[in-house]
Amino acid sequence: TYVVTDNCIACKYTDCVEVCPVDCFYEGENTLVIHPDECIDCGVCEPECPADAIRPDTEPDMDAWVEFNRKYAELW
Ligand code: SF4
Repeated sequence: TYVVTDNCIACKYTDCVEVCPVDCFYEGENTLVIHPDECIDCGVCEPECPADAIRPDTEPDMDAWVEFNRKYAELW
């Protein structure tokens, strides 16, 4: 899965939401979040993010971000 990380805070762009083919972005408390079970790992959102906030969970130390994204995505 891809996840939204802290660079998203206060970002007003929604380019990522518009390109996601499965609509798995949700509104979090002060960031957008990606539902980790709905993301199909296509990667098209990553280069669209002007804040470089979207990262693949294959990078080191991403477990906490996966849980952060899941927590807010599941509120919907
Ligand atoms: Fe959506 Fe693809 Fe980004 Fe996952 S990687 S959030 S499916 S655009």
